[in-house]
Amino acid sequence: MSCLLIIDVQNDFMQGGSLQVSDSMDILKPINTLRKQHNNLFDLIVLSQDWHPFNHMSFASNHANKKVFDTINLNGSNQILWPNHCVQESFGSEIHKGLHREKSDIIIKKGTNPTIDSYSAFMDNDKKHKTELESILKKNNITTVYICGLATDYCVYYSCLDAASLGFKTYFLQDASKGVSKDTTAKAIENMIKYNIKHLKLTLIFCFWLEPILINREYSTTSTPFLYPIENKPFQKWIDLFNKETKHVEDKLDKAIDDLNSVTDREIRP
Ligand SMILES: [Zn+2]
Repeated sequence: MSCLLIIDVQNDFMQGGSLQVSDSMDILKPINTLRKQHNNLFDLIVLSQDWHPFNHMSFASNHANKKVFDTINLNGSNQILWPNHCVQESFGSEIHKGLHREKSDIIIKKGTNPTIDSYSAFMDNDKKHKTELESILKKNNITTVYICGLATDYCVYYSCLDAASLGFKTYFLQDASKGVSKDTTAKAIENMIKYNIKHLKLTLIFCFWLEPILINREYSTTSTPFLYPIENKPFQKWIDLFNKETKHVEDKLDKAIDDLNSVTDREIRP
């Protein structure tokens, strides 16, 4: 059983928000498309929501003589100081209206303890207090978790690490996520690859003109990256070709898009 875990797609992290992530609006289409076109992939959809009290210690405004993006020592670990964001019941804390939602979606609130931050949707940064996410997944017999949202280098990253370490087969949906900064985003992805975290996969979603396909990009420290489709349908022959003939993943993807754009509707349809 599989779960789609959508991290923190909230007004404050979207365009115009107090802690807006660059190009964050771009994730709405792939996530919404995934839900509509690949609904059968997911048995459960969970949305996480950063949900801070106004006196939260991750806010620069709650520390004298500190400014946004300073790092402090908070209870023995490094804490980046953020602008005020996702304050409980505020507009900024609401899930963005552009995100497709269903009544059956489950919401997990995190970061509610004013003394500790919670990047992961599973637990606080000190790992002492868990949210109800793990028990909800287990209760629903979920074994595979697809994770996307904001931001790749913080809440998505730590949610991926925790999901994998808790034993869930974990897919990071790269094209349905955006990071706060280029450097930390690259580092987060590099770390996920470098440590060869068990079960952790990087996945790309392509929304082609005909229908979206989901392609996994699997990395290992010991072998060449390769592609394989979750749902391939009429595109199998191109995917096979790229796996066989092209060495670099990015080249394969560019070529795939070019080729798919150059064939006619009739040629593709089975
Ligand atoms: Zn926060």
